[in-house]
Amino acid sequence: MAKAASKLKKTVAKSKSSSLVRAKAAAPVAARKALTKSPAKPAPKAAKKPAVVKSPAKPAADVTKSGKWVFTFGDGKAEGKAGLRDLLGGKGANLAEMANLGLPVPPGFTIPTSVCTYFYAHDKSYPPALKAQVEKALDHVGKLTGKAFGDAKNPLLVSVRSGGRASMPGMMDTVLNLGLNDKTVEALAELSGDRRFAYDSYRRFITMYSDVVLGFEHHHFEDILDTFKDSQGYTLDTDLTGDDWVDLVGRYKDAVARETGKDFPQDPHAQLWGAIGAVFSSWMNARAVTYRRLHDIPESWGTAVNVQAMVFGNMGETSATGVAFTRNPSTGESKLYGEFLINAQGEDVVAGIRTPQDITEFARKESGSDKASMEVAMPEAFKELTKFYTLLEKHYRDMQDMEFTVEQGKLWMLQTRGGKRTAKAALRIAVELANEGLISKKEAVSRIDPASLDQLLHPTIDPGARRDIIATGLPASPGAASGEIVFSSDEAAKLQADGRKVILVRIETSPEDIHGMHAAEGILTTRGGMTSHAAVVARGMGKPCVSGCGSIRVDYGRGTMSIGTRTFKTGDVITIDGSLGQVLAGRMPMIEPAMSGEFGTLMGWADSFRRLGIRVNADTPEDARTAIKFGGEGIGLCRTEHMFFEETRIRTVREMILSEDEQSRRAALAKLLPMQRADFVELFEIMKGLPVTVRLLDPPLHEFLPHTQAEIEEVARAMNTDPRRLADRARDLAEFNPMLGFRGCRLAIAYPEIAEMQARAIFEAAVEAEKRTGKAVGLEVMVPLIATKAEFDLIKGRIDSTAQSVMKETGRKLAYQVGTMIELPRACLMAGEIAKTAEFFSFGTNDLTQTTYGISRDDAASFLGTYVAKGILEIDPFISVDRDGVGELVKIGVARGRKTRPGLKVGICGEHGGDPASVAFCHEIGLDYVSCSPYRVPIARLAAAQAALGKAVASQA
Ligand code: PEP
Ligand code: MG
Repeated sequence: MAKAASKLKKTVAKSKSSSLVRAKAAAPVAARKALTKSPAKPAPKAAKKPAVVKSPAKPAADVTKSGKWVFTFGDGKAEGKAGLRDLLGGKGANLAEMANLGLPVPPGFTIPTSVCTYFYAHDKSYPPALKAQVEKALDHVGKLTGKAFGDAKNPLLVSVRSGGRASMPGMMDTVLNLGLNDKTVEALAELSGDRRFAYDSYRRFITMYSDVVLGFEHHHFEDILDTFKDSQGYTLDTDLTGDDWVDLVGRYKDAVARETGKDFPQDPHAQLWGAIGAVFSSWMNARAVTYRRLHDIPESWGTAVNVQAMVFGNMGETSATGVAFTRNPSTGESKLYGEFLINAQGEDVVAGIRTPQDITEFARKESGSDKASMEVAMPEAFKELTKFYTLLEKHYRDMQDMEFTVEQGKLWMLQTRGGKRTAKAALRIAVELANEGLISKKEAVSRIDPASLDQLLHPTIDPGARRDIIATGLPASPGAASGEIVFSSDEAAKLQADGRKVILVRIETSPEDIHGMHAAEGILTTRGGMTSHAAVVARGMGKPCVSGCGSIRVDYGRGTMSIGTRTFKTGDVITIDGSLGQVLAGRMPMIEPAMSGEFGTLMGWADSFRRLGIRVNADTPEDARTAIKFGGEGIGLCRTEHMFFEETRIRTVREMILSEDEQSRRAALAKLLPMQRADFVELFEIMKGLPVTVRLLDPPLHEFLPHTQAEIEEVARAMNTDPRRLADRARDLAEFNPMLGFRGCRLAIAYPEIAEMQARAIFEAAVEAEKRTGKAVGLEVMVPLIATKAEFDLIKGRIDSTAQSVMKETGRKLAYQVGTMIELPRACLMAGEIAKTAEFFSFGTNDLTQTTYGISRDDAASFLGTYVAKGILEIDPFISVDRDGVGELVKIGVARGRKTRPGLKVGICGEHGGDPASVAFCHEIGLDYVSCSPYRVPIARLAAAQAALGKAVASQA
């Protein structure tokens, strides 16, 4: 497949799961319910001084050597703090921190991650001292709340939640109201004066506990409830009376006994240990294990368990539960944002049965809701919330996502954590926090995930939309697009001319598909890797592309593509998500990219911190303009073979390649010269004196050879030769392994007149561009794929003598350098020799990866995925540079080259130039610049700044 383009590579952003924000409907989660009565001691009024959290985490080990297995919090104090996140998990550490700040946090305790580690190291048993420490902590919480765990008159009820260092879906869900049994439920009824509430709480507890601890699934209870409602003629849960819930609790318990063979546990202590065991066990459940693998979370981290006194948001009209963000997580606007539900608890909100209400009057007016905001309905609690959110944001110096419950008018804070946000919001928040003086500009720059900038540069699929994923391939070029399937480039161009939107689906693409790729909204190929023709060209065009999607079978004849039992035909609409490599059925709702003022501000700050130069791989005027727009500081790689993709030009290139003697080759070259010159003039003019590295032709011959009889006849006509003879010549030139064949400098060695023509076009264009712009072109002529100094020298000789001729003919002086790609292991090793004559190096890490691993860049897709899945490779080395092997060769090349020629200018221009982790590597080893595809320039600028600031940037694969 295509190398011409095939070469490129790069990185895509794995904008993993677009870290979006909780969608509106999914708002307040979690727990809220609670004490029948307020705690014995009122919680302290807010807030001590907003000390600032800076230093994270102390290793778990020190703290637990002491045998401390339980950390209490509440009543304005805590044994933990935010810095103990590794030990207490995010939730536990922040609950402790809020308690220390004097915020009203229902008292409780955290069993740390070290117990989880112990649990798995000791055959699922607990440290012997744990039990007594839990008992003591329960007593402590009991004292603070004026209740006792298991007490038949005034029972302490608790919630149990998991909470690791990193938030991790897949872990055990929350259990609320733990401690209820046939006796304590009566006490709850009596204390609250509301039997219906008490039994409703009990049945919720039985449901949750059975589901997450006993493995008796939720839907069984739904069935029982539905049958009961039908029998009574009820439609809503709210139709049920207290007696109805009593009746249902009996039915629920019977079902548990029948299905599990055991009565529902009545002993609160047994209930608690059951829930604690379920949390630790869930660390190893399949969902959690998969999530950890996908997100590089080590198994050794373990989870913590948080046990906390209940507070109830469902105790009537003065109670509520809600979720709030200190800033808008979608836009970043600095306004409290969130929702709440009166007389409700977590599951009600998640169930989406009722529409949540806005928290602020501002938001209510904006949404046009006729339901009272919290600001109006619960002014006191709202005032408190305002005080706390301001405090928390100052304290953590970041936007917070908080959960709260109002129990009979009193506000309780249940959770705070750094809020997830869109890329747009992240930028705005970082810039505004810096402008507010809460964080430094350096911190602002460090806080943005470079890969997430793709969200701002390309359309993305609405994160709230349901995805019908039909296949997954490689995330070859970011962004998303929907359109009708077309299987040929001509068809794509035709439909586009009629105003239709299409996705071009090909087994693979080649230079002849350029017009179809231009016309399409996005490109899907079933073969080819991250550096395939489709991937490289799409990235240059800024169009989404999914490549190497091997599970799809394309039948051009029938006009169908099938995946398993599903078949799609020409005209069917699909969507591709080039950031995730997904192919989806149907049209998806899109979010259009929007570059805000904050984008420019943050990029400006990033530029002030970075040392690496950022250039762009650009072959067309459009690429060059995009590069300038995104802040590219020059062209680091102009692949001249890409300039021949247009239909009329390919024909002439074919004439040149297929010529049997120098004379006919020169005739073809003479036709190409003016076209090349015109292209270069335009490119140089746009770049206005910035450096431009023009690489001599590096065509994988197979991409340029005519394939069909019609193509052969067409070229034969132009060359005035017999088509059969031409077909023979094409057959002679066909190679078994074109990527290691007659390409790169080998072509110019065999046919120096090609290099001469290109050099002439470059120099004549430089003269012309300088005349037009008044600025001398920063001209660098680059020789591809050399293995020896002799190859380089021979071609350099031709380039220099052509430059002399042009200078003589035009009477103008030209400044230029001749350098080389270093993209073969031998060139790295011989860099000291090569640098004697080469004036600059540019590492072609695409080919260097291919030749170091011995993995064909075009065929890698069929097995590299398996390598990554089996953990043999951490990441596709064509996406993120292999520091140990390929990187070592680059280091050797740099050191040997600079030893010979101190100050040798060195960059990279493989696709790795746009991968944040690879950019960091380039910074570390002292390269001068990276060159990447135009749409990755902002990502590279930010990654380079973060590297300079010392931030470890994980690749976003
Ligand atoms: C490379 O090999 O890294 C490179 C930039 O060249 P190409 O992709 O064009 O082979
Ligand atoms: Mg190369």
